[in-house]
Amino acid sequence: MNAFHPYSLNINVRGLGLSATLAINERCKALRREGRDIYNFGLGQSPFPVPAPVVEELKRNAHQKDYLPPHGLPALREAVAEFHRRLAHCDADPQHVLVGPGSKELMFLLQLVFYGEILVTTPCWVSYLPQAMIIGRRVSRLHTRFADDWKITPAQLLDAIERVRDDSRPRILVLNYPDNPTGVSYTAAELRALAEVARRYRVVVLSDEIYGHLHHRGEHRSIAECYPEGTIISSGLSKWCGAGGWRLGTFVFPPDLRWLLDAMAAAASETFTSVCAPVQYAAVEAFRCGPQIETYLAHARRILRLLAGRAAATLRAAGIRVTEPDGAFYLYLDFTALKDSLAARGVTDSAALCERLLEGAGAALLPGAAFVRSRGELAARLAYVDFDGAAAMEASASTPIADRLPDGFADEYCERVVRGCERIAQWASAEA
Ligand code: PMP
Repeated sequence: MNAFHPYSLNINVRGLGLSATLAINERCKALRREGRDIYNFGLGQSPFPVPAPVVEELKRNAHQKDYLPPHGLPALREAVAEFHRRLAHCDADPQHVLVGPGSKELMFLLQLVFYGEILVTTPCWVSYLPQAMIIGRRVSRLHTRFADDWKITPAQLLDAIERVRDDSRPRILVLNYPDNPTGVSYTAAELRALAEVARRYRVVVLSDEIYGHLHHRGEHRSIAECYPEGTIISSGLSKWCGAGGWRLGTFVFPPDLRWLLDAMAAAASETFTSVCAPVQYAAVEAFRCGPQIETYLAHARRILRLLAGRAAATLRAAGIRVTEPDGAFYLYLDFTALKDSLAARGVTDSAALCERLLEGAGAALLPGAAFVRSRGELAARLAYVDFDGAAAMEASASTPIADRLPDGFADEYCERVVRGCERIAQWASAEA
């Protein structure tokens, strides 16, 4: 008997296992080691390399060895503020920027220091809820609908707030757009309407804009434009800069929430201290977003837009419902229309759906339940990233950016995504 086993009841992760995205990645690797050809549509990782000038800066700064201030390197805070001033047309101030080891960690710290209720719209990114559970925060789930393109409506937000009228209860609404897992984003008008409700009830908005620069048409708008006083903008290097493993995330606070920034910086200084110094120096180059990086982004967006359209069309032809995505690299597949035929094949929940997709189509997807939807809802997220992003980007460079990519581009450079979606479509159309 393990002498320490009785202590295992004293841990504080409340029954949570490894994050669902990381678990599926491990599962894929194991199946591949067994020799199976698996389409890895599970993990949401950018297929593109880190832009060359950013890699160069990291090399040039390998010697940087000193601890940096807990708020972040001053030059980086300056670059981040300028980045959001341009992207979100807001009045971001370098003094109000906080740099952390990934935006995920910053979100955790936010929930730790802020005693409030978290409002999440579902389907939502896999970690918001487990973070709240670890810390013991109250969470309200606002379920969105396919008919609303998986977006929260102002009426729904109002209803959730008014259901429990308690002005002493501070609230944070987490809004992610372009969205993981659905790929949809909000228009400026939709953001304005949500901002109006948030302002009326003094709801703080955590605006998770980590995919903002991967809006497929480069038309990302931020709620900070219309709700500057109550919005914290979250971003980082992981998605648009392809540097998830570098672990650098950023929060930009409005002046009215300075006290929250200070509380988080205090917690940061007692936990991670500061982000890895060479990465912060390199990130300055990334956030300055010079012409080379703008070109990189233009190619990334064009490839993702093409691929999203192609994948969605293939899946829709098999009766799977897919909302038109605006950005990021995800599609949220809704198999509801195939409910009866799937039930006849013994598939009645999203976990079984993904299990059978892995077995039958060789495609790894994440079940809707991982995104805080009910188990019985037949939905799954597909991350269309299983292709060589460096090769695709190099090929895209030979077509002027204002033009469409040639026919056959996806078949040639993103072949695994194209084939994988065809396999899913065939599997979905099969008879019981
Ligand atoms: N928000 C969303 C919506 C995400 O998809 C992710 C990463 N998958 C994160 C936040 C966290 O990113 P990071 O910690 O790498 O900055």
